[in-house]
Amino acid sequence: MTDFTMKTDADGVATITWDTQGKSMNVMTLEGWVELEALIDQALADDAIKGVILTSGKPGSFAGGMDLKVIAKMKEMAGDNPAKGLFDGIMNAHRIMRKIERAGMDPKTNKGGKPIACALPGTALGIGLEIPLSCHRIFAADNPKAKIGLPEIMVGIFPGAGGTTRLVRKMGAMAASPFLLEGKLSDPKKAKSAGIVDEVVPADELLSAAKDWVLNAKDADIVKPWDQKGYKMPGGAPYSPSGFMTFLGAAAMVNGKTKGVYPAAKALLSAVYEGALVPFDTALKVEARWFTNVLMNPSSSAMINSLFVNKEALEKGANRPDVADETVRKVGVLGAGMMGAGIAYVSAKAGIEVVLIDSTQEAADRGKSYSTGILDKGISRRKVTEEQKADLLARITATTEYAALEGCDLIVEAVFEDPSVKAEVTAKAEAVIPEDAIFATNTSTLPISDLAKASKRPEQFIGIHFFSPVDKMLLVEIIKGKETGNRAVAKALDYVRQIRKTPIVVNDARFFYANRCIIPYINEGIRMVKEGVAPALIENAAKLVGMPLGPLQLVDETSIDLGVKIAKATKAAMGDAYPDGAVDEVLFWMADEGRLGRKSKSGFYAYDDAGKRQGLWDGLAAKYPVADEQPELIEVQHRLLFAQVLEAVRALEEGVLEDIREGDVGAILGWGFAPWSGGPFSWLDMLGTPYAAERCDQLTETYGDRFSTPDLLREMAGKGQSFYGRFGPQAKKAA
Ligand code: NAD
Repeated sequence: MTDFTMKTDADGVATITWDTQGKSMNVMTLEGWVELEALIDQALADDAIKGVILTSGKPGSFAGGMDLKVIAKMKEMAGDNPAKGLFDGIMNAHRIMRKIERAGMDPKTNKGGKPIACALPGTALGIGLEIPLSCHRIFAADNPKAKIGLPEIMVGIFPGAGGTTRLVRKMGAMAASPFLLEGKLSDPKKAKSAGIVDEVVPADELLSAAKDWVLNAKDADIVKPWDQKGYKMPGGAPYSPSGFMTFLGAAAMVNGKTKGVYPAAKALLSAVYEGALVPFDTALKVEARWFTNVLMNPSSSAMINSLFVNKEALEKGANRPDVADETVRKVGVLGAGMMGAGIAYVSAKAGIEVVLIDSTQEAADRGKSYSTGILDKGISRRKVTEEQKADLLARITATTEYAALEGCDLIVEAVFEDPSVKAEVTAKAEAVIPEDAIFATNTSTLPISDLAKASKRPEQFIGIHFFSPVDKMLLVEIIKGKETGNRAVAKALDYVRQIRKTPIVVNDARFFYANRCIIPYINEGIRMVKEGVAPALIENAAKLVGMPLGPLQLVDETSIDLGVKIAKATKAAMGDAYPDGAVDEVLFWMADEGRLGRKSKSGFYAYDDAGKRQGLWDGLAAKYPVADEQPELIEVQHRLLFAQVLEAVRALEEGVLEDIREGDVGAILGWGFAPWSGGPFSWLDMLGTPYAAERCDQLTETYGDRFSTPDLLREMAGKGQSFYGRFGPQAKKAA
């Protein structure tokens, strides 16, 4: 393997080119480090070489980051002491980057080093920015599409290869915080104004500009500020008046935002704070210790798996049937309401031609104007140009004429949630569209197999379930009806890939997957109100365990009358087996009181005239008094979490879910299930199935059969199995 190669020109400038074999973007591997170090050693030792340019052989990018599988490898290699393996591996990377940074200069005089410039043709993420930060000057090509930053925090880790320590020392803790704590990415120009890169130059001058600098750099130009005498951290060290305010504020802000459930955010802050109090090399060691600590935390491996590895695998078609390419060219969207308008926008944005149909021209136009609204907002924020707006809008034809659907290879139906209306539009569309077109419905509650009865071609009929708001939500749930064929699944997956969302594929059952799990969460919250649990305890317990919204706020957002509608329909379908009478009492009473949630500016919360949430409604206690004795926080949290994860397990047991990765990724992206946990199955694995089953038994005894341990979980508990051990991709491959 040769990911790194070096060539020296007649002027004595060596160019090290990074070109990871078999990948479209560079990623750092264990072998890569060895190669890079060998070339740096060679360049530093060779008297004919005056300086070095480190660049990439990939057009448009420098590097995408670390190969995250390396983390697992380092742990494995260390046998029974994985933490040591990680720490040693990280320190080794620090040592190599420190070698680049010091570049052979005399430790006392800081003289005699060789200039090393980094030339970024484009995107530089994670380790792909940490390595440049160890170089003496960073040149970036003026490539507006490039993304530069340290997104590690988004997958539950933090920049642990010197990025944290160097960025804070380069720009100060306050200025570095959006890049470290929020994983903010910038284009080259913004990265330069923030002080992350040093120069932005036209793409075709990238290497010559870097070479010019290398040839002209003086000793003083290559000594990092923190290696100079009298270095002071920009913005102040922790125990200076300004630094004190920064660090005090940051700790409070991070805890407020993360509710303390994300180990990476805390560890990052500790690394920054402790690192700021000690010399640079010690700070790197401190960073390495905290990084090891985070990597050893089960939350970060679960987050890496669900939010990175498995999410990417699903996006790349891990569950796509093996049929030819089904890229969508022209989509017909039936119904230009809230969902249809959003579906038209995301499709047109992906370059797909869209025909947007409603029963009146006015409604169709209103649907199209939703795109105009988003684009205008983008223009005012300088994210969209007038030209892009015109192009995108030109792709959407708003009409009442079904004849316009001619040539559509995909239909997405989003008319009223009424089987007869859906049947009518299905027949009308099928009369026009090509024989081989795929017909998808966006229904949220009606069985796909029933709706497919209105179709002439049920094997070409499928569910593509979007979440609201369509342009923001990242997940799309694809639902196979009884007769849905492979080509329909492939079409749906190819479409979701085109619109850059993450798909899960599930089988047809009541509420499919996401809504099936989220409804019991809301219900459990409402049930507790009836029992006299303090509403503030319910809501805060949910947030403190990482749910984005408490159950009462969530039902206010989705509306209480929708809850009533779903409850009535479910009761009608389930008859005596219906378990949620206690919930309905509260829900129906709220609806009778006209408290329908945010849209009526009154619900479990109070709202001001502008619809802004003011706090929990104090009138609730008159009807449902708060009990004198309140449950423990963990009890409330377990009720709220188990209500969801047990549905996920049942969905797996019943074959609605076919892949637990979809269950985990879908839960986080679909309804924000405690992302720190990696999703329902990762969370159960963290607890261990024996404890999870025992806990279900206790909850069942205290609160009733809705918590009863699914047979599958009981069996796995008996055998000491984990979900990923039994159903994960490795297990599937082995089977
Ligand atoms: P909506 O009421 O906002 O829009 C429905 C649109 O369909 C309206 O513009 C209506 O004029 C149009 N329509 C009705 N009959 C028609 C016909 N015969 N021909 C052409 N157009 C017709 O509803 P919505 O919230 O956009 O929901 C649409 C579908 O999406 C429903 O099946 C719903 O269950 C599903 N869904 C909704 C959400 C959500 O959060 N709102 C989420 C996922 C799925």
